[in-house]
Amino acid sequence: MHAGARTKMPKGLELLTLGIDLGGSKILTAVVNSRGKMLASYESTTPATKNREAVIQFILDSTWRVLKQASITISEIYAIGIGAAGISNPETGILFTSPNLPRLRDVPLKDIMQERLGKKAFVINDANAAALGEFHFGAARGARNFIYITLSTGIGGSIVIDGKIYTGAIGAAGEVGHMTIDDNGPICNCGNRGCWETLASGTALAREARHRIKEGVRTSILEYAEGDVEKVTAQAIHNAAEQGDSLAKELITRTGYYVGVGLVNLINIFNPELIVIGGGLSNIGDMLLGPAFKVAKERTYKKTFQAVRFASAELGRNSGVLGAAAFALQEMKKPLSK
Ligand SMILES: [Zn+2]
Repeated sequence: MHAGARTKMPKGLELLTLGIDLGGSKILTAVVNSRGKMLASYESTTPATKNREAVIQFILDSTWRVLKQASITISEIYAIGIGAAGISNPETGILFTSPNLPRLRDVPLKDIMQERLGKKAFVINDANAAALGEFHFGAARGARNFIYITLSTGIGGSIVIDGKIYTGAIGAAGEVGHMTIDDNGPICNCGNRGCWETLASGTALAREARHRIKEGVRTSILEYAEGDVEKVTAQAIHNAAEQGDSLAKELITRTGYYVGVGLVNLINIFNPELIVIGGGLSNIGDMLLGPAFKVAKERTYKKTFQAVRFASAELGRNSGVLGAAAFALQEMKKPLSK
């Protein structure tokens, strides 16, 4: 079945898009207008261990709820944009694999959503969605060549060249978190060693702290982790650092150094005008990013460093859902090719 019929909007009303941010831990759905304003949003926990049909049903339930909340019906929605964690092909709308959703493999998400909801649907990787959100409505407005990175439990990224997301051959480009920083470094989930995210993510920071605490280093970090070394998180380390804990400060500086090493590679390869930095770990701010920018400045060509600007992501946890909606709107405007 083809969901080809475009919705006719009454004059004076703007186009409403349904954005869906399908993450490994949460699903955020929102009704978004063309200026990036969310008219309603609904968030729920992803049923990560459930099978494919249950996850699809869950997404549909979230959709009905958010439509109800916005007091509209699906017929008033122009198109649907889905930002999905994992590797997907934006051309075919197939989600190949998704971290934390192990039972979603090779899912034709675009076709399924179009069939079930009777509207055009578009699928994009979650980091690319977040970058598009920042591009249309946030920190990257007006930029043509920029890189978006999200420092979180892992490191995600998106590369925008000449105003367009660079997706690569099968849609898997922009996996900046898996560039090799240390060829003998820790083993990564992807199978490689010493990926950027094994050294500069929140998970890496917490892992190092646990290691040092087990070695017997004196620190107040445990006070922020219920006294349990296994409960040490990046947040606990940040809290301890703010109270002056020297191990916490040292570990954050070290993580910032590795953030910087990755930035050096990105700046040298892409000569971006802007790097937008988001993700929970980046909320640590100067203590983390100061050392990162210092390394970036020291190890890149002076001219290229002078050409790049760094900005914090502005849309926070809504970047993905807003970007997914913007992607749908953007794809609808393209001339029909099939
Ligand atoms: Zn990796």
